[in-house]
Amino acid sequence: MATVPPKKAEATASSAGGASVADATIELVNHLILEAARMNASDIHIEPGTKEAIVRYRVDGVLQVRRRFPLDQIPQVVSRVKIMSRLDVTEHRMPLDGRVGFGRPSPNEPYIDLRVSTVPLLSGEKVCMRLIYKDRERADLEHMGLSAENLETYRQMVDSPSGLLIHVGPAGSGKTSSVYAAIQHLNEPGRNISTVEDPIEYELDGVNQAQVNPDQGLTFGVVLRAYMRQDCNVILVGEIRDSETCEIAIQAALTGHMILGTLHAESCIGAIARLQELGISNYFIGSAIKGIVSQRLVRRLCEKCKRAVPPPQRLADALGLQLGQPIQSAVGCKACGRGGYKGRFAIHEVMCPDEETRDRIYRGAAPSAIEEAALEAGMAPLWLDGFEKVAKGETTLSEILRVVRGVTMGTRARGDDPLGGIVDTLVSPGSPGMQRGPESL
Ligand SMILES: [Zn+2]
Repeated sequence: MATVPPKKAEATASSAGGASVADATIELVNHLILEAARMNASDIHIEPGTKEAIVRYRVDGVLQVRRRFPLDQIPQVVSRVKIMSRLDVTEHRMPLDGRVGFGRPSPNEPYIDLRVSTVPLLSGEKVCMRLIYKDRERADLEHMGLSAENLETYRQMVDSPSGLLIHVGPAGSGKTSSVYAAIQHLNEPGRNISTVEDPIEYELDGVNQAQVNPDQGLTFGVVLRAYMRQDCNVILVGEIRDSETCEIAIQAALTGHMILGTLHAESCIGAIARLQELGISNYFIGSAIKGIVSQRLVRRLCEKCKRAVPPPQRLADALGLQLGQPIQSAVGCKACGRGGYKGRFAIHEVMCPDEETRDRIYRGAAPSAIEEAALEAGMAPLWLDGFEKVAKGETTLSEILRVVRGVTMGTRARGDDPLGGIVDTLVSPGSPGMQRGPESL
């Protein structure tokens, strides 16, 4: 992989007059990357606006403006990023993408890789850089944030010798980190673990990792077929997004392989619908699925400034909170950059189909009927896992509602409907515990 060219050589190569401008631009771009890394940002956006250029960082899942500079500096900044990433500096009309090793901000900090993408906009070229912290300590199963019950269920599923274990959630929901945690858990010399990814985000010792290259014809399907002749125990399919990949993954799961994969779906039930859309028969879905995990990342309350507030009555009743037991709200202080939150963690919905659930999948039952059986078998809906984290004071109610809105609420499937309408009640303005977080600004 390319690494950032040394600053000195470049400055010397420039003409005397241009050197100072080039130096200043190099400094600026380096400064942005280092600052973003220190803030633990996942992405840097450098955007030409109508009047000025804006730099925004995505921190804990939320974009924040960090800097503005004159619009006429955009071409130099974009060129610098392109030079760093070995992209064609003369191409301004087409989107470009590349990857570059940036290095360590300091000896004790993780090595940073940058995934760079440029897009020509009306007002100029826009750059987005994804920061990949390479050797940062990664979560193991115990630190995935699973509740005790979910962790036990997940262990049973992932330790099975065969079957399909799918992780779902929108982009940026942490599902890749969860899959890596599962791989780390399974990684021992007695198992042949092979992956097919796009791209490989982390290199893992003891794991055979392949990266797809569609331009050369190296697709998920081609690599997966080869793995069928590679004596694999566990296969990670980075993303199941086409029928061919899905069919081979299902076949592999049914012939003695443990298949881990991610799929774009909103919920566990949504994943079954997605597999049907990809052309898999209900019989194969019901037979191959070992489990489905749906997840979202929520921001963790800052320990230094969080403040106790009384919970809305319905939430207190639903969670069995003791009389007078408060929940916490976000305030904001110096330690958390005034946002009230610091870091993130995942909330989960873990579906482990029992006989009845499988039976309904085989019969092609309605999603609500499959969900009903899964809930009956012990699946806790995503929002309930979130509300339990609220009761523990780890995050706020508004944060949970922000990420679970639009997800099947699950309650309608239950006859007794213990929490029916709770979300509507809780989102009404002025409810205690509701905070106007930065996401609503
Ligand atoms: Zn704080």
